[in-house]
Amino acid sequence: MTCHRCGQPMYQHEATADRWWCRCGAWRDVGESADRVAAREAETASVLALLDAAIAGRRSGGEEQRIRDREITDQMEITMSPRIQTTGCPKCGGTMYKTIETDENGNPIGAGPFVCNSCGHMM
Ligand SMILES: [Zn+2]
Ligand SMILES: [Zn+2]
Repeated sequence: MTCHRCGQPMYQHEATADRWWCRCGAWRDVGESADRVAAREAETASVLALLDAAIAGRRSGGEEQRIRDREITDQMEITMSPRIQTTGCPKCGGTMYKTIETDENGNPIGAGPFVCNSCGHMM
């Protein structure tokens, strides 16, 4: 499988055998159509933009910002499917993301690896 985003070869992760991963952070389910991948990534991009805004806001602080933060977080709760977790990258200090798969009731059923948004490090 070649990455639809950057053209590098994708690989599979033992925890998610039916999913292809790429070092650039892209992934696709085995058998997922190109159209579906594009639609899903457009949604993820908008969620990540909200996330970046929330992180930037937290740095600047302020009560007004905290209220906005909460609104963004609420918005993310609604739009996030699959959910996204973040953590600091031990290699470059960037932000790592991973997606949490949930069933129709919102219960987590699995997760992929963390992938660094900056350097591509995985863990
Ligand atoms: Zn890629
Ligand atoms: Zn990194």
